[in-house]
Amino acid sequence: HGRLVDGAPSEEDQSLESLRPSSLDEYVGQAEAKANLKVFIAAARQRGEALDHVLLHGHPGLGKTTLAHILASEMEVGITATSGPVMERAGDLAAILTNLESRDVLFVDEIHRLNHVVEEVLYPAMEDFHLDLVIGAGPSARTVKLDLPPFTLVGATTRVGLLTPPLRDRFGVQLRVDFYNPEELASIVTRSARILGLSMDAHGAAEIARRSRSTPRVANRLLKRVRDFAQVEGGGKVDREMADYALGRLGVDTSGLDRLDRELLDTIATKFDGGPVGLNTLAAAVGEEAHTIEEVYEPYLIQQGYIKRTPAGRVATPRAYEHLGLRPSNSAQK
Ligand code: ADP
Repeated sequence: HGRLVDGAPSEEDQSLESLRPSSLDEYVGQAEAKANLKVFIAAARQRGEALDHVLLHGHPGLGKTTLAHILASEMEVGITATSGPVMERAGDLAAILTNLESRDVLFVDEIHRLNHVVEEVLYPAMEDFHLDLVIGAGPSARTVKLDLPPFTLVGATTRVGLLTPPLRDRFGVQLRVDFYNPEELASIVTRSARILGLSMDAHGAAEIARRSRSTPRVANRLLKRVRDFAQVEGGGKVDREMADYALGRLGVDTSGLDRLDRELLDTIATKFDGGPVGLNTLAAAVGEEAHTIEEVYEPYLIQQGYIKRTPAGRVATPRAYEHLGLRPSNSAQK
C-alpha cells in the first residue's frame, strides 16, 4: 500500500538499493551484534570454514537483509537470497541447496513462513550438510542421501516467536536487530545524502531522523522525498526548514505519525471520548479496513504508547491527547 512511514518494504524501495552499506564498518549502529559478528567472521575465516548459521530477528526495515549481504561479502563468499513463502515444495529448497558453492550464504527472509515440508529438508542440511531425497513413490520409494557443500544459513524474521523450536535451535548465532537512535539515523541519512549527491546540513538530517520511526528504511524513504521538494521548490539544499516543510507536505509529523495515524488518535479521542472503542467501529469511523488498522497502523501506535488495547476496545492514552494538543478526557486519565 506504499505507505511512506511503514518499515515494511514496498515496490518503490528498489530505488533505495544503492544506499545499502556493503561492509560492517559502513553499517551504522547495532554495535554489539557487529562486534560479535566480527569475531565469528574472523574465526571462521581463520579455520577456512563456513560461518555458523545466523538468525536475525527484528522489525521490518531495520537492516536484516543488509546484514546478510554484508556477512557474505565479509566472508568473501557468494549469497543466494530467497524467502520462506517462495519455497513451496521440498524440491524448491533442494534445488537451491545443491547449487551452493562451499561456504556460501543462503539467505532466507521471512523464515517463519517456511512450510513444514520444506523445513524438514532444512534440518539435516543445516545440521550436517546433507539432503535426504526420496526417489520414487509407494513401496518402491527409497531415500538417497546427498552431500551438500558446507554453507551458512542466514535466516531473517520479524516474528521470532513463530519459529519452531527445532529450527531455532539449529542456529548457532541468534541476533536481535534493534531500533536505531536519532544520532544513528542522522548518520544513516547523512551517508545516504552523500551517495545521492544531495547537499544537506546536520539540522536537516536530524529533522528527517526524528520523524523516521527509528527505522533506516523509513529514513531513506523520507530523505528521497525531501530531496524532491528541495530540488523543485527549494534551492536544492536540505536544511531544517526544508526538511520540516517537505515532511509537512507529506503529512509526516514531528513524531513520524502520518495522517491516518493522527486521524485514528483523533477519532478515538474526540468521537469516542477516548474509548474504549471496538476495532470494527473504529475502522468504519475512519473508512479503513479493520485488518489494515490492526496490522499496519496500530502496532506502532501501541508500541509508542498512543493507544492501548483493552478487552473492551481501543483507548487513547494521555500521550495521544498531548500529541493532538487536546486536553485528556476523564477516561484517558483513569
Ligand atoms: P530488513 O531486511 O530488516 O527489512 P533492510 O536490510 O532491507 O531491512 O534495510 C532497509 C534499508 O535500510 C536498506 O536499504 C539500507 O539502505 C538501510 N539500512 C538498514 N540498516 C542500516 C544500517 N545499519 N546502516 C545503514 N543503512 C541501513
